Amino acid sequence: MPALPPYDPHNIFARIFRKEIPCNQVYEDEYVLAFHDAFPKAPVHVLVIPKQEGYRSFDDFSANAPADAIAAFFRAVGIIARQLGLEKEGYRLIANHAKNGGQEVYHFHMHILGGKPLGAMVTV
Ligand code: 5GP
Repeated sequence: MPALPPYDPHNIFARIFRKEIPCNQVYEDEYVLAFHDAFPKAPVHVLVIPKQEGYRSFDDFSANAPADAIAAFFRAVGIIARQLGLEKEGYRLIANHAKNGGQEVYHFHMHILGGKPLGAMVTV
């Protein structure tokens, strides 16, 4: 069985970046959109997504996206974290991939979490 389902162009994040449904936006540029997570797991919980359809997870994006899109994505994550004022106290980045990563939405996204000490990295 493949690790990921085929890309669904109607997934919730594709609909958000096409502006079909609203989000609580914090940043946008040519390559990425960032918005608050609807079910935050920390005082600050922002999702960063590429504004291209087709990339289902970090694995897919890192293997298949053009180099300029990958560079722009990671540059933007840093800018957004700084704009949120997180760089001094710290923050955590998470990109869940597939079943064992607990991925729910199959449009690649990076979580930025912060606003308090986040504790142990993973509880098992
Ligand atoms: P994943 O588990 O795929 O890495 O994370 C998906 C994230 O999307 C979850 O943290 C979840 O709370 C968030 N989420 C799900 N539906 C929506 C939505 O409609 N709007 C926003 N802003 N976040 C959502």
